[in-house]
Amino acid sequence: MSPLQRYGLTEVINARGPFTPLGVSRSAEPIGRAVAAALGSYVVMEEMQDAAGRALSRLTGAEAGTVTHCVAAGITLAVAAAMTGGMPGPIAALPDTAGLPNQVVLPAGHVVNYGHSILQAIRLSGAVPVQAGTAEECRVEDIEAAFALGETACLMLVSSRLTKGAGPDVAASVAAAHRQGIPVIIDGAAQDMRIGEMLATGADLVLVSGQKYLASPTAGLVIGRRDLVRSVRAQEKGIGRGMKASKEAIAGVLAAIELREGLDLDEWRENQSERNAVFARRLDGLPGVTTATVPDPAGMPFDRVHLRIEEQAARLSAPQLAAALRSGAPPIHVMDHLADQGEVVLELVQLGEDDLDVIAERLATLLS
Ligand SMILES: *Cc1c(COP(=O)(O)O)cnc(C)c1O
Repeated sequence: MSPLQRYGLTEVINARGPFTPLGVSRSAEPIGRAVAAALGSYVVMEEMQDAAGRALSRLTGAEAGTVTHCVAAGITLAVAAAMTGGMPGPIAALPDTAGLPNQVVLPAGHVVNYGHSILQAIRLSGAVPVQAGTAEECRVEDIEAAFALGETACLMLVSSRLTKGAGPDVAASVAAAHRQGIPVIIDGAAQDMRIGEMLATGADLVLVSGQKYLASPTAGLVIGRRDLVRSVRAQEKGIGRGMKASKEAIAGVLAAIELREGLDLDEWRENQSERNAVFARRLDGLPGVTTATVPDPAGMPFDRVHLRIEEQAARLSAPQLAAALRSGAPPIHVMDHLADQGEVVLELVQLGEDDLDVIAERLATLLS
């Protein structure tokens, strides 16, 4: 009996991408086996973190890497590392930041909410976030003006489809921070196929999620400068205690990295593109529906299928269609962030062909 049946849990079809309230992702079997093996063993956790660091360096070319409980934890601990370095006294004193640079500058449009506000993940370390520019626009000069307001511990940038407005040029922002000796952290939680690109901006630390597209157990991957990564690890003797990675999470991350290293990215990208095109064509004739395949706005190498709903012909508005899909059996969850503008969006990356059949049949039933 599957755990879903045993505990009376709802089986769902998740076309929203790596969405935390729906269990984020589905891991391949080798990852599950690695997790099970770790759960049955004692390990030296320091050695396991060292192995994760080596694997992350191999995968990304970065100097160093480590694993935290999740990316939200990684944000808090990266900020803590920027404030304290490896000094045991200040690490033990956090979230009291007396005597430390404690201002964290971020573009106002990068204040994302991924379940809570990123501002809270920053504040949890004791730091004080300072927003640069406005939600509509932030220029490099706005960031420099914010640096001048206090003692800045780091610049935080977010690479995500959730950011708003015209953000500053990333490499230019990094250069401006470095001119003042300020380290830069990029939260690229759902951008794990762009780690190289994010590191190439000169950023000191890049944070990506293990459980999103890498499909490992829940884990935050912290990648970049050796001294800062070491300081992130040192937080485990402080506020990082409650944010530590488990042995099973690290084992799953190591297995997921090996699977990623074996992936032919060009072939993967072509497959995704083909699947999206085929699925879009399949839905194209439905009453009131026009389809388009649209690339990830933040630059991950895949498309999503957008359904533009013409309410008269469909006899349902886009928000009504999203709600109807969700209230069927099994519930089908789609992205509804553009529903007010007449579109529902489907992400197919983690879906099987059987899931796509169910979605296509449900749409045909609801719309005809
Ligand atoms: C998902 C996400 C997070 C949070 O990641 P967790 O690993 O769930 O803590 C942070 N920032 C962005 C941009 C995200 O998309």
